[in-house]
Amino acid sequence: MTIFEESKKYIPGGVNSPVRAFGSVGGDPVIVKSAKGSKVYDENGKEYIDYVCSWGPMITGHADPDIIKAVKDAADLGTSFGAPTKAELDIAKKICSMVPSVEMVRLVSSGTEALMSAIRLARAYTERDKIIKFEGCYHGHSDSLLVKAGSGALTFNQPSSPGVPADFTKHTLVAQYNDIESIKKLLAENKGEVACILIEPVAANMGVVLPAAGFLEDLRRVCDDEGVVLLFDEVITGFRLAAGGAQEYFNIKPDITTMGKIIGGGLPVGAFGGKSEIMKMLSPDGAVYQAGTLSGNPLATAAGLTMLNKLSQPDFYKNLRQKADTLFDGMADNCKKLGLDYAYNRIESLSCLFFKDGTVTSFADAMKTDTKLYAKYFHAMLDRGITIAPAQFEAMFVSAAHTDEDIEKTVKAHYESLKEIV
Ligand SMILES: *Cc1c(COP(=O)(O)O)cnc(C)c1O
Repeated sequence: MTIFEESKKYIPGGVNSPVRAFGSVGGDPVIVKSAKGSKVYDENGKEYIDYVCSWGPMITGHADPDIIKAVKDAADLGTSFGAPTKAELDIAKKICSMVPSVEMVRLVSSGTEALMSAIRLARAYTERDKIIKFEGCYHGHSDSLLVKAGSGALTFNQPSSPGVPADFTKHTLVAQYNDIESIKKLLAENKGEVACILIEPVAANMGVVLPAAGFLEDLRRVCDDEGVVLLFDEVITGFRLAAGGAQEYFNIKPDITTMGKIIGGGLPVGAFGGKSEIMKMLSPDGAVYQAGTLSGNPLATAAGLTMLNKLSQPDFYKNLRQKADTLFDGMADNCKKLGLDYAYNRIESLSCLFFKDGTVTSFADAMKTDTKLYAKYFHAMLDRGITIAPAQFEAMFVSAAHTDEDIEKTVKAHYESLKEIV
């Protein structure tokens, strides 16, 4: 019996997070034994050039020696204390210095937890119950946010999930990404009742969909007009588009920001932060309850701080962008050479090739992609030793560890793969 077959006896679907199971592309997942730099290695020692990057966190590559050392050094001092540490102050100061709108921050253990807590805070601050999210945006798997969600929830065609009582989602309103009129309409219909609008400033869980020119600015404006908290979910875009995330990149300050993925350097970390006025409402300063036994965990904090220090090096993002440009230009060229007019969305080190002609600027566009063709593309790339997300509605991530040789091989494999399948 294979590891995966046996895993299925003991773990639902054989995986601890659904999209890992290759459900939408077919076949059995690669069982990873180790990873280093730009590569992952399976149980049989087969090497792959990896663009999943643990779904985003590994922006400096796998098993980054600086991060590994920081984690080992921290472990020697103890793995958890349940008491405040200087490392938590250090990382909090670092986050506040990097992310423009964040004046105070609280650490949690996942992106999901960050979103749950941030929304509670926004509701308490505004004394309103309703929230607005965008169709196709993913904000973790908590009950009230599993409405028209992206990522795995899209892949599995379950806009919502059984086990979520309708009563729990009745305060969640859904708008259309890149459509400010859909927001204005909801705000007019629910005047004075909306606590917050949450958005992935670049949507990266319905594939990658960029904000249209002026869309985020408009959003900021309507939030100000209506006293609504603007929440940027920067779990993917944070520390990815720039050191200060999408808010630095687009120069728009949200009121609350959620972070995850990269911020933990591969360990389980999430965070949410914002204006002090809002953050001070959190317990024990204020009455909004939020807690976590392992929040600010010393190993995770050490990994995260080391990561953030590395990202603060001069030219980190410039160098990363150069790698990404070489790869993404090469992929775009391949499509052109093959006479394909597929939508190819890209920004900095994030990209997504849709198997749909023309452009993808909305959730409705993204839904027109040919997911069966994506599955073929995925396997053609895998056969050539390259791992990309095993689902269409995810991003391709480039890391600083990808070498020129990796990129050259990938562009070649991409050409051959497309040629084989279309
Ligand atoms: C991954 C993700 C989350 C959830 O983070 P977890 O750490 O998986 O709980 C939330 N929001 C966005 C935008 C994400 O990509």
